[in-house]
Amino acid sequence: MIISMRPHAPKHEVEHVCERIHEFGFRVHSIVGEERVVIGVVGTGGDVTSCLESLEATPGVERAVRITAPYKFVSKEFRKERTVITVGKAAIGGNEFVTMAGPCSVENEKQIMETAYAVAEGGAKILRGGAFKPRTSPYDFQGMEGEGLKLLAKAREATGLAIVTEVMSDRDVELVAEYADIMQVGARNMQNFAMLKVLGKCGRPVMLKRGLSATIKELLMSAEYIVAHGNPNVMLCERGIRTFETATRNTCDISAVPVLNELTHLPVIIDPSHAVGKRSLVPAICKAAVAVGADGMIVEVHPCPEKAVSDGAQSLTIEGFHAMMKQLQGYLALWASERTA
Ligand code: PEP
Ligand code: MN
Repeated sequence: MIISMRPHAPKHEVEHVCERIHEFGFRVHSIVGEERVVIGVVGTGGDVTSCLESLEATPGVERAVRITAPYKFVSKEFRKERTVITVGKAAIGGNEFVTMAGPCSVENEKQIMETAYAVAEGGAKILRGGAFKPRTSPYDFQGMEGEGLKLLAKAREATGLAIVTEVMSDRDVELVAEYADIMQVGARNMQNFAMLKVLGKCGRPVMLKRGLSATIKELLMSAEYIVAHGNPNVMLCERGIRTFETATRNTCDISAVPVLNELTHLPVIIDPSHAVGKRSLVPAICKAAVAVGADGMIVEVHPCPEKAVSDGAQSLTIEGFHAMMKQLQGYLALWASERTA
């Protein structure tokens, strides 16, 4: 159950509602917004129906909603309208399909600047680039860390693109939030609950990637952590899951998009690059992402993929990215007419 208090309800009314919830045998999880307090009623304690009826009649309560899903704030039952997250010039979840593009890793100034200008020219609104890299081998390139973040900020300054970059530890959240417009949680950290809680208070939108072997329900529960800790600006990212198939790096669960659109109001982004792991397959999955109603895509692009320090095989060249964006135009026009219908 979720209780929305009236805008600017006084403290004593909020406290009274919390007392009533405790009397019914439930626990309280409040989110204090600028305008209103929203209270999540959690636990299996008491009689849900009587609690709901009583709270509906309690002073200061605007709305009490019963939510059957285990994820509350991110569920469609709580909120029917799509969440729209404004980042730089992009409105993610709104009436435009948003393209994020850039290298897997920030490698040096020339590489990130060249890529930034090129992806902006191709129509991307957001520049991607990892400064903290989650690598399977401890001997592989681990990222430029703070220096990489500074280069991303420089690229934003020069091009006007917003920045999405990964954070791997709760200790780095503050530092990354100084530079990033969107905090990326990588697949390997989807269930780093300590970090998800800190991201709830980081003041920046979060892009939460689906874990390598995570179910959609687990993805939504992780998103719930961030929202329940105070940050409503979460987008979800399908980046391929592990299956028995070896022809592609992962298996792109394209049906995750319509499934998520039924279950949640949060925007959904597709990462075709990590899903397939092979440059030649990326454009087809981008078309699929548009056709299936995703809110955007995040694509790896490198000026010289053969020299990339990570994920070169799946990175599009700049020419490849531009060609793909041209090919997508017809699909994007259909997307926009469906979205505004
Ligand atoms: C990345 O975006 O470069 C990345 C490491 O992605 P994932 O966490 O999905 O593997
Ligand atoms: Mn990568």
